[in-house]
Amino acid sequence: MTPQREDTAAAPVLRVAVPTPVHGAFDYLPPREGPLPPPGARVRVPFGRRSLVGVVLEHTRGSALPGHRLRAVTQVLDTQPLLPPALLGLLTWAAEYYRHPVGEAVCAALPALLRQGRPAVARGPTLYRPAPEAAAALDTLGRAPAQHRLLQRLLQSPQGLTAEALRGPEGRDLRHPLAALRDKGLVIPEHPPCLPPPGAPPQTPPELNPAQEAAVQALEQALGRGYSCHLLEGVTGSGKTEVYLRIIRATLAAGRQALVLVPEIALTPQLLERFRRRLDTRIAVLHSGLADAERHCAWLCARDGTAGVIIGTRSAVFVPWRDPGVILVDEEHDPSLKQQEGFRYHARDLAVLRGHREGVPVLLGSATPALETLANADRGQYAHLRLPDRAGGARAPRLRLLDVRRQFMDEGLSEGLLGRMEHHLEAGGQVLLFLNRRGFAPAVLCHACGWVAECPRCDARLTWHAGPGRLRCHHCGHETPVPARCPQCGGPLSPRGQGTERIQQALARHFPQYSAVRIDRDSMRRKGALEAAFAQVRSGHHRILVGTQMLAKGHDFPDVTLAAILDADQGLFSPDFRAVERLAQTVIQVAGRAGRASRPGEVLIQTHQPEHPLLTLLLQSGYAAFARAALAERREAGLPPYAALALLRAEATDPEAPGAFLEAARGHLQAHAPGDVQLWGPAPAPMERRAGRHRAQLLIHAPARRPLQATLAALPGLAHLPQARRVRWSIDVDPVDLG
Ligand code: ADP
Ligand code: ZN
Ligand code: ZN
Repeated sequence: MTPQREDTAAAPVLRVAVPTPVHGAFDYLPPREGPLPPPGARVRVPFGRRSLVGVVLEHTRGSALPGHRLRAVTQVLDTQPLLPPALLGLLTWAAEYYRHPVGEAVCAALPALLRQGRPAVARGPTLYRPAPEAAAALDTLGRAPAQHRLLQRLLQSPQGLTAEALRGPEGRDLRHPLAALRDKGLVIPEHPPCLPPPGAPPQTPPELNPAQEAAVQALEQALGRGYSCHLLEGVTGSGKTEVYLRIIRATLAAGRQALVLVPEIALTPQLLERFRRRLDTRIAVLHSGLADAERHCAWLCARDGTAGVIIGTRSAVFVPWRDPGVILVDEEHDPSLKQQEGFRYHARDLAVLRGHREGVPVLLGSATPALETLANADRGQYAHLRLPDRAGGARAPRLRLLDVRRQFMDEGLSEGLLGRMEHHLEAGGQVLLFLNRRGFAPAVLCHACGWVAECPRCDARLTWHAGPGRLRCHHCGHETPVPARCPQCGGPLSPRGQGTERIQQALARHFPQYSAVRIDRDSMRRKGALEAAFAQVRSGHHRILVGTQMLAKGHDFPDVTLAAILDADQGLFSPDFRAVERLAQTVIQVAGRAGRASRPGEVLIQTHQPEHPLLTLLLQSGYAAFARAALAERREAGLPPYAALALLRAEATDPEAPGAFLEAARGHLQAHAPGDVQLWGPAPAPMERRAGRHRAQLLIHAPARRPLQATLAALPGLAHLPQARRVRWSIDVDPVDLG
């Protein structure tokens, strides 16, 4: 497309990101009067018959559309850029890299209220403060007792009070005396930021151990010196968070902001509390559970520099800041940092890129770094800092494989495990059991005829949830009551395999004297339930914890002395090449829950594969040795980080359509791909039918990112394939889940 030379007038054309699934930005004429909205400002634009809020990306001199067909911006919502240029650049780059419509990517970075066009101000309720001359003027108010009383109260609270606090429990109407005092200049109204200021003065930090000291020194030297990236590899409990806190303090002391990214599951009230106790600044918290007004406030306080610390889950990588200081990514290996739907970006990768573009240091922390990150450290791209020992004197736990072949298993608990549990419980310790499967049993079977309860819409079995007495599909949400008898032969039905519910039931039978709590998405649905359960664990009320991934991360249980992984084989049989890496990370994370305080811990891993080479290496020599061997395997197999992948997925109700589309797509992409790029497939997805739709995928395999991107540049052509009309398709660049 060549721009036409119709723009003889001086007025530039505005390229606007508009929230629609169409690729590319849209051109508009500036508003007929008033100032020109700068890049990063919101504007209201006509779009078809609708009016949408978009973001100006740039001013250009021409448009592919003839001038008389361009429509004008109808309203300018910001006179200053709402998204700073650097962030706008990151968003447009990411939209291009992950092949997502730029309008959706840019607009999704705004909180809902800003997307709807609300003004970009984040102020809390008005605070009333006494003026400096108020004390002296108190005596002059003898004839206005209401004003006198009010001013007297304010003088006792020089930091100011809100109208609500002034009104007090009696709810007296103070509008008149307040207005009178204001008119006399004795009371000054203030409009403070909506985020509360820090409470008590910060606690004094512990003395650092030598490894922490070395890490902090290296990082402090990097602060204020442009981009650099550091991997902080520290075993669980080694004091990584303590290192973060020091770096954040140094950043704040230099008048700059810190951006901290964490996986959803790790952003606990416990962690926030720790940050609040130690940092003398407002903290903007961003995660998916916020109300619109809370998100609006946190986002704007980050943007205008009111919050010294911004802490959030993956989408916080797109939060603007005023004084870029440092970016930290905790648990950088966590797959939840990759968005799996829509705009499929990786927050860790973008954090590194953001640091690079904005010239600030980046710190990636983990006990079990992603293989990609380790490879970058090996190549010298990242400095590698290590915390090899637990802080505060806790000893590392002993890890052992429990060979369950031919062992008697009661509901998934081997005799060996039951024996060790008894030992630890009697010695006063707590026990944590990890099983990544919710519900009572993952399958229901008729012993007489072999009938299995299957989801009518997916290639999956239904999970039995005993509590509500329902069968549920964990992939599409389908659910039905548990049938009383086999619908095929009328025989009795029996559960097969174990979920957390069933383990809890078995525990009640084996250890009736000890309270066991179940921690998973079903049992912790209510808001606050998780915190309440953890409080009861810390108080010692519960002695056994059984749960899923929710239990594995970020929480500190000082009295857990035995942790067990009930079914390691789950991770060994997965078709995904990352499954073993994930299993190793889970083992180390779960192990990190045992023996956090002074008691030594023990970790047991039940498996039918006690000779699995990578698993035994992990247990005998630790994660670093495991990672080395796993990286060698990846190199051998030509898999990431020694290759770059993208996954083209297609689905349709017609079983033939996805394959036909991907076959055509393959031909189209092959014609545009550099010679060293391979297209693998199309093949059925690991779960071929899901929610009533048939699914297939095509894997694009390139030796590096550049040839991969060159191939993906041909993607827009897929929309013109006749087969494309019969499917829904999507692209996942650098996929972390090949399902
Ligand atoms: P990580 O983030 O690596 O899991 P934490 O920073 O949470 O580790 O530290 C684990 C525990 O050790 C915490 O209770 C923390 O307060 C304590 N701790 C950390 N550093 C020190 C230190 N230098 N001296 C004493 N205790 C420490
Ligand atoms: Zn039957
Ligand atoms: Zn289903």
